[in-house]
Amino acid sequence: MHRSAPKSDIDESKLEVTAPKTAAAGVKAVTVALERAVEEMGVARTARTLARVNQRHGFDCPGCAWPEPTGRRRPAEFCENGAKAVAEEATLRTVTPEFFAEHSIDELSGKSGYWLGQQGRLTHPMVLREGDTHYSPITWDDAYRLIADTLRGLDSPDEAAFYTSGRTANETAFLYQLLVRSFGTNNLPDCSNMCHESSGTALVSSIGIGKGSVTIDDFARADLIIVAGQNPGTNHPRMLSALGEAKAHGAKVIAVNPLPETGLIGFKDPQTVKGFTGGITIADDFLQIRLGGDMALFQGLGKLLFEAEDRAPGTVVDRAFVDAHTAGFAEYEKQMRAVDLAVVEQATGLTREDLDRTAKLLAESKSTIICWAMGLTQQVHGVATIEEATNLLLLRGMIGKPGAGVCPVRGHSNVQGDRTMGIWEKMPETFLAALDREFGITSPREHGFDTVDAIRAMRDGRGKVFVGMGGNFVSATPDTEVTEAALRNCELTVQVSTKLNRSHVVHGRTALILPTLGRTDEDTQGGVRQQVSVEDSMSMVHLSTGRLTPVSDQLRSEVAIVCELAQELFGPEHPVPWAEFQRDYDKIRDAIANVVPGCADYNAKVRGRNGFQLPHPPRDAREFRTDTGKANFAANDLHWLPVPEGRLILQTLRSHDQYNTTIYGLDDRYRGIHNGRRVVLVNPEDITALGFAEDDLVDVISEFGDGVERKVTGFRLVGYSTPRGNAAAYYPETNPLIPLDHVALRSNTPVSKAVTIRLEHHVHTA
Ligand code: SF4
Repeated sequence: MHRSAPKSDIDESKLEVTAPKTAAAGVKAVTVALERAVEEMGVARTARTLARVNQRHGFDCPGCAWPEPTGRRRPAEFCENGAKAVAEEATLRTVTPEFFAEHSIDELSGKSGYWLGQQGRLTHPMVLREGDTHYSPITWDDAYRLIADTLRGLDSPDEAAFYTSGRTANETAFLYQLLVRSFGTNNLPDCSNMCHESSGTALVSSIGIGKGSVTIDDFARADLIIVAGQNPGTNHPRMLSALGEAKAHGAKVIAVNPLPETGLIGFKDPQTVKGFTGGITIADDFLQIRLGGDMALFQGLGKLLFEAEDRAPGTVVDRAFVDAHTAGFAEYEKQMRAVDLAVVEQATGLTREDLDRTAKLLAESKSTIICWAMGLTQQVHGVATIEEATNLLLLRGMIGKPGAGVCPVRGHSNVQGDRTMGIWEKMPETFLAALDREFGITSPREHGFDTVDAIRAMRDGRGKVFVGMGGNFVSATPDTEVTEAALRNCELTVQVSTKLNRSHVVHGRTALILPTLGRTDEDTQGGVRQQVSVEDSMSMVHLSTGRLTPVSDQLRSEVAIVCELAQELFGPEHPVPWAEFQRDYDKIRDAIANVVPGCADYNAKVRGRNGFQLPHPPRDAREFRTDTGKANFAANDLHWLPVPEGRLILQTLRSHDQYNTTIYGLDDRYRGIHNGRRVVLVNPEDITALGFAEDDLVDVISEFGDGVERKVTGFRLVGYSTPRGNAAAYYPETNPLIPLDHVALRSNTPVSKAVTIRLEHHVHTA
């Protein structure tokens, strides 16, 4: 029997702190996964649904973008957090019109994102008109008419922004960008603007394509894997199995992270005997680097590799690769030889021994993979840092070689697919021309707004309509006070959602909630079950088929919502066959095949045993479609993050019981934080040096030099293993501390991993 939604919200006074865990997963992961699943779905639905996750004829996990094995799939082809993601979506709890009648918008605004998310699946389209105190039901037709009238009433299509969450499937993403471009704007902010935009920008400049060059099978062929700025144990848990397999083949793993994350230390794979007998060690070496020190690390290693080459010419630098396939080597070599290792030690907080040890492993490696995530991308110099990591691989000829390459690990299940389908505010002319040719429309050519620019536009009154295709914009974005005011500044906000979240309670003068099907739900159009497709972190595109009966007959698929809105907005004469697309998703895929590079014959290929792999010229043929036609070494000036006196550098992060802005529960058991979320993890020596004691209640204030005081209050100080001068706390609770203009150079990604803060004792107010 599933359990009904919790009535009470988070009570931080119940917060408990215990010792961090030293091994991820294990039997506990299985019990937690099943407990959460049964709580939300009941026993029978749990059994049916979990048996289908990530199976070839099942549905794709709505969690992260870690790929499925190309060979045998395990009966339980999911992790603890995958089970939680499925349970969240396939819950039997519902948020009905009666719920909204009972809870005013003011009351709901006072609730945490956790409480809102726990209430269940949205069942009916709802509207909140200016002055209303409660959301009320609206028909689909009236909802579409309201949106279409408002959009048509704008002075310019550029006064609207159309946001995409990475859960959106390929078919929806393709049609959504087609609707937006048919409407006349490129304002297509998406969640990757906040996560791997820096990776895309760096890789396009270095190797000519913004995607990783590694396949899942490369892990077992690698002899060295560097995992930098990533916490796989929580954010990509099945990656631990791939790392375990790599180690079984003799690979060494080096973890580079300010925090000794549990999944980097040990792993108990509950699907193996070892998982019950102590598990395995993941990281052979752990470099506890200071926040923002990664660029210095990669430059220091570059210098040491050149010195190793000097000592044994021809053994370190892959001359054949460098000469044949790269440009900019001489400038890079000059830059590296000038690196001051003493500065590198200061910037990284690492010792010379740490650097030498790592450089030795790099120099001896025959096949190196470098994996990374937000720890690198959400830095002011994130793009240059990723270029430096790529430089090391170019130097060693580690691109387009089995067991080697670049591996940005994507956070959201289809964030990479959305970009491939055209969800980007600056798609190349080739794509726009193909789109126009296919549909007889004229797409706008002026680049649109990404996420940060969209917030600026809404803040400044240049953005009047916000449409969110999934996601939780207000909680995923920085500078919460500014973002909330920007959304409230809108004439209309529209959220296409499965679950209730804070973006429904922070709204424009008029607000619409459009309830949609999830990945687990059966999607029948014209009496035929439809399938959607997604692309994982390693460019594999495969089908996903939901089979659960939707919790309400008022739910519409994302594809149907886009097609029905388009027909209302553009009328029956529009050249795009929206109704046909809605009736048969194969037709959408045929159009994708004609427009999207690498997708020819999409329908046949996607029905392959594992779907199909999109082309990656550097991986497939050492072909680099860059401005030089070669892989580019980047010669960057070194930047790192000294800690101002009496201050700390903060990184925001997820708990183990969270996925992006979705809070599954209050148990970050890997870090020993239970029943609460308002904590700031600080090195015990810093706690003392700054005049505090563990367990003190503090306010956290960020400093950005723009004269604005950004503050969050009532956080518990927790002593934790992190480099001196660094701190960590959960988002979205600390997103108010991140200035909107605190962005990564060249990618405009919010810098959530490097915020200067000070702590003040919290003064209880009545
Ligand atoms: S690793 Fe990611 S995709 Fe795989 S089951 Fe876990 S959350 Fe889902």
